[in-house]
Amino acid sequence: MWQAFRMSNPSPIDELFAFLRFASVSTEPRHQEDVKACAGWLVEKFRSMGLSAALHETAGHPVVLARNAHQPGRRTVLIYGHYDVQPVDPLELWSHPPFEPRIVNGKIFARGATDNKGQILAHILGVEQALQRDGDLPVNVIFLVEGEEEIGSPNLRGFLEAHRDELQCDVVAISDTGMLAPGVPTFTYGLRGIVALEVKVKGPALDLHSGIFGGAIANPATMLARLVATLHDAQGRVAVEGFYDDVAPLQDWERELWRQLPVSDAELLTLTGAPGLFGETGYSSTEQMWARPTAEVNGLGGGFQGVGSKTVIPKEAFVKLTFRLVPNQDPQKIAALVQAHLEQHCPPGVTLEITAGHAGMPYVMDPHSPYGQAAQRALKATFGREVALIREGGSIPIVQTFKDVLGVETMLLGLALPDCRAHAPDENFPVENFEAGMRLNAALLKELANR
Ligand SMILES: [Zn+2]
Repeated sequence: MWQAFRMSNPSPIDELFAFLRFASVSTEPRHQEDVKACAGWLVEKFRSMGLSAALHETAGHPVVLARNAHQPGRRTVLIYGHYDVQPVDPLELWSHPPFEPRIVNGKIFARGATDNKGQILAHILGVEQALQRDGDLPVNVIFLVEGEEEIGSPNLRGFLEAHRDELQCDVVAISDTGMLAPGVPTFTYGLRGIVALEVKVKGPALDLHSGIFGGAIANPATMLARLVATLHDAQGRVAVEGFYDDVAPLQDWERELWRQLPVSDAELLTLTGAPGLFGETGYSSTEQMWARPTAEVNGLGGGFQGVGSKTVIPKEAFVKLTFRLVPNQDPQKIAALVQAHLEQHCPPGVTLEITAGHAGMPYVMDPHSPYGQAAQRALKATFGREVALIREGGSIPIVQTFKDVLGVETMLLGLALPDCRAHAPDENFPVENFEAGMRLNAALLKELANR
């Protein structure tokens, strides 16, 4: 009888498909009920595994918390993930409907397959399998699965502060980053931070005839180009005064390790389609992307954008800037330095209007720390290969939030591949990575118990 019941249990793939069918797009109000239903599904899933679980309402989308029966004297790991997903537009570029998951050539195609439902569910099912096999886990586990990661986790810090006591833990584990290449276990020990600014260059009160007024009145689009050109020097360094003052230099051991990684400039050119490389002299491309700060123009505009020509001096022009930051740069301090730089270099005949945007702290942990080593042993056991130690150029501000509020480090054990198309049409996650994620969870909990 019991056997028959067990046989009829859904398979891990069935469970993932059920999770993926929720259109839990956090940014779109029309999907609010889908987001909520997805959170409810998770709560039921956790309870069916024998964990205690609760759905916590926030000012935005709910947070789901779950835990096994904690025992004193055991280590406590908080496993974080998110059940919300990015919008699916442009829908016409998907080969299959994004919320009707299917497997093609060993890959699971659906919105959220890799970011983050496939990865967090692998941890959840890894715990379920261990409980079914052993009746208990070797450590205390807290699952925290939120529904607002894709919109910047606006309510997570407040939630952590309000639930600080019940979230006390020794370390956080997240699978929401990437693997260097298929089959290469990858431990990410650093992330860049970010600060965003938008600048408007303002000239005359209205668009002007460039024949009648041109020559006497400064053109905001020209002045914007001048201003943007002051952000870098000829060597590709950011020319904002004081920008590098707090930058933690790369360590010799990491430069040496990164030189041996199976990545090349030729592959980078193929992957991006760029005609050539660019960047700060004296650093390899991985160093430039993972451990050096940048200034980037993400958008700029002004003046006539239509077909043909229009002889106009636009009354204003704009640029959207972001700065990727590395330890120990502080986003607020950098925003102030950039603002001072822009004002100091404001060309004649125009004024500036500067608006600060979002910001996130950079993060780095010591991969040689006991938790870093435990994570690497688990990765090596799972994939049977040496672990690649990397930083990532992107930003996951919540990692620093965990450190600030709970006082703990985060192990980033990503399972996404470079071609998983997170945030894009045809997002996918290899079945073998999903299965590896379940094994990784088991190995990780064991290593944490023994460390
Ligand atoms: Zn994402």
